[in-house]
This record gives sequence, structure tokens and C-alpha cells, in this order.
Amino acid sequence: MSRGPDERADAVVVGAGLTGLVAAVRLASTAGPGRRVVLLESGSEAGGRARTTEHDGYRLGLGPRALYRSTRKQLEALGVRVPGSAPDLAGALALRDGELHPGYAAAGPLMRTGLLSVRERVAVARLLALSGARSGRAGTDAARWLADRLPTERARQAAFAVLRISSYVGRPDMIGADALAAHFAEARRRVRYVDGGWRTVAEALLERAAALGVRLRTGVRAESVEGGATAYVTTAGGPGIRARAVVVAGLSPGAAGRLLERPGLADTAGRPLHTACLDVALSRLPDPARSLVFGVDEPLYLSVFSGTARLAPAGGAVLHLARYDDGTEPGAREVRARLYALLDSCQPGWREVLVHERFLPRITTMTALPEARLGGLAGRPGPAVPGRPGVFLAGDWVGPRGLLADAGVLSGVRAAQEAAARL
Ligand SMILES: Cc1cc2nc3c(=O)[nH]c(=O)nc-3n(C[C@H](O)[C@H](O)[C@H](O)COP(=O)(O)OP(=O)(O)OC[C@H]3O[C@@H](n4cnc5c(N)ncnc54)[C@H](O)[C@@H]3O)c2cc1C
Repeated sequence: MSRGPDERADAVVVGAGLTGLVAAVRLASTAGPGRRVVLLESGSEAGGRARTTEHDGYRLGLGPRALYRSTRKQLEALGVRVPGSAPDLAGALALRDGELHPGYAAAGPLMRTGLLSVRERVAVARLLALSGARSGRAGTDAARWLADRLPTERARQAAFAVLRISSYVGRPDMIGADALAAHFAEARRRVRYVDGGWRTVAEALLERAAALGVRLRTGVRAESVEGGATAYVTTAGGPGIRARAVVVAGLSPGAAGRLLERPGLADTAGRPLHTACLDVALSRLPDPARSLVFGVDEPLYLSVFSGTARLAPAGGAVLHLARYDDGTEPGAREVRARLYALLDSCQPGWREVLVHERFLPRITTMTALPEARLGGLAGRPGPAVPGRPGVFLAGDWVGPRGLLADAGVLSGVRAAQEAAARL
């Protein structure tokens, strides 16, 4: 098939998930008018894992989503407002030994919880306040950090149950202590459930991108990216694109490595993190008092998102349940049964008021964990790719700051700035 003559652009962004959308908007606004910025997306629409689907007026994200402060600040700097509210953790329930107990995700309830002794409560409260030296955690995994700071296994389990909610990490030895502590510090500063779901953010970024003249091409897969004074992107079946700079945004280390012929990128990255999610729309919420549950001895979670953000028509509810990745992989059927059991116990009769449900057995929540053995956050690569001038990386595994979308957005902004400096 003829690919046609090469196209010319000032900059190309590969991938139109949240990271690529942020990178394209930042690039176009930094580079100024008249620059040609092309955004390539292999899927049929932009948004990537930040997509939200709609079912009879109910908005369902791909799993539970809380937007952290760093992401919000970066979005605001790009002219994108994030409407929504912060969930109230004070009413959260804790699931332990198959029973629901008053929770302890907020400071007040923690000091009253019957699940821990007074000594344990104080130690957990100190740890979650992140008091004490912050340095020296880079090569330490979170299990070691908890073991050093907490007196009993029960206290360690209880503390990690709270840390897990915002990090999605199912077992403490999977992640560097620096990354977990820094992320928890961020999550404590009021997260936001977004009105309309994360699609609201993706749509606002798309609007900004269009206003700045970014050319979005959906259904176009980049096949390879070469660096140089002029970088070059080949696309599946289409023309190649020559540009001064290319940002590879939101691809996993493996996918980015294949694009750049740099298999080493995957070899030096941590393992991916997956989550099993059950997304549910109900025409009525059977038990509003059981709206937020976190597992203590099992990596489970339930939250009625529509209690905090606008996601459902009047009287209806949108719930997200999850089983976090703890490396055990019990299998899709077993996990689904466990999530149904949690829903049965919290919202009895939910099947009679079911509008829509979606089970995602294994969605990628982080493409690569900042593991302690790889140096934690400090061990992640920067945007510049050695030996590939003009090519920059961004994503949830790039740069020394943030987890999840925070890492993507922060590295997306940085990659865009470095790319814009070449134009
Ligand atoms: C269940 C779940 C819960 C989450 N909860 C939170 C949360 O509470 N808070 C938080 O901050 N983050 C959360 N995240 C993470 C957050 O969703 C992601 O970090 C973010 O959406 C990733 O955006 P991205 O652009 O980096 O990657 P993606 O969204 O994966 O986008 C990459 C894009 O690149 C495209 N692409 C891939 N290859 C090519 C190619 N060769 N050519 C062209 N296009 C290509 C893909 O189609 C895709 O659209 C969660 C994720 C999941 C799955």
C-alpha cells in the first residue's frame, strides 16, 4: 500500500490519553501560534484510560477515579477547570474478617477504632501523618518502611489498608516507600471526584487543543519513532511525519521501547499494576450508610461515587468496586464473585435496581511500578531519551514525581516544555 509523501509538522505527540492531551496542549501553548502540532491516537477516540462511558444518563469511569492535586493544578494552568467534590472519608467502613466495622481512614475515627489498641492507633496515626525524616526511603520498599515504623503486624496491615486506597497497590513490598509516602501526602490534600467523570477533563483538554490548533488524528497508530535533527514517525499504512520534536505519551515502557527500538526501557522498568473493577449504575441506592468501604485483610474497595460527584440522574447511583493487585491473581471468576459478595453485603437488593454493570478483570492501573529495587521514584527515566535527539517520553513511569495520572501529567508537561524548546 502506498503511504504517500511524508508530512511535515513542528511536533508530534503519540498517544491521546490524559498524558498526551496535556502534552499536546502544553506544547501548542508554549510553542505559540502558527506551529503545527499533530496528536496521533491509535484508538477511535481520545481519552485512553481516562474515558468515561454513558448509560441512560449514568456516567461510568473505567474503575474508580480520584483526581489528585498535582494533576488539578497542572490542568488549571492549562486553562482546564475540574468540577467536582472531595469524598468524605469520615464515614468509611472497614472490612475485616468478613465483617464491616466503623472505619479509620480519617484522623478522628482512627483514634477511636476498636480494630487497634491505643498504642497501635498512635503509631498508625504518626505514620499516616508522615512525620519523621522523609529522606532515605528511595531504596526501601513500603513493607520495610511499615515494619520499621509500626509495632505489630495488625498495625502494619491497618496502615497499609489506608495507603492502598489512593495508590491501588495491593501489597506493600511491591512499591518503593518514597513513592507511596509522597503519593499519600498528595492524596491527603483533598482529592476530587470529577462531575461527569474523567471524560469531563478529557473533553476540556480536547477543546483547548482544538482552540490552539492541535491536529488530532484518531485511528492512526505510530509504528516507529526515530530521533535526529529532524525526528521521524512512521504510521501504520499512512504517510510518515517529519518533525522537530516527538513526545511519546502514555505508552507502557514495553510499547515505547518497541517504538524507539529500545528494548532496555522495559527491562529497567518495574512490573505493571492491574486492578479488577466492577462499575455499577443503580436506579436507587439500597443503603446510603454503606457508601464507602475499604478492605483491611483483603484488598477490596467499594465507593458510591455519585454521592460526591454528579454522575447519575436524580435518585440514581454510580458505584465503583475494586480488587487491588496484590500479585496473587485469584482469577476473574473468583474476583468477580468476591466483588458481588461485597456489593450484596453493602447494598442488598442491588440487582433489582440495576441499570448497568461492567466488570473489568484486569485493567492496567500503572504501566510500571516505581519499585524499591529500581530506586523508587528517583530510578524512573526522564523525558529525554539518550541517543534519540528530539524524542521525549511521558507517562505514568516517567520522571521523579507522582504516581498514576499525576506522574503522566507532570511528565507530559515537562516533555512538552523540552520538546517546545527545540522548535
Ligand atoms: C482502574 C483505574 C483506576 C485509576 N484511578 C486513578 C486515580 O484514582 N487517580 C489517578 O491519578 N490515576 C488513576 N488511574 C490512572 C490513570 O487513569 C492513568 O494514569 C491515565 O489515565 C493514563 O493516561 P496516559 O495518557 O498516560 O495513558 P493511556 O490513557 O493509556 O493513553 C495512552 C494512549 O495512547 C494510545 N496509543 C498507544 N499506542 C499508540 C501508538 N503506537 N500510536 C498512537 N497511539 C497509541 C492509546 O490508544 C491510548 O489512548 C487509574 C487507572 C485505572 C485503570
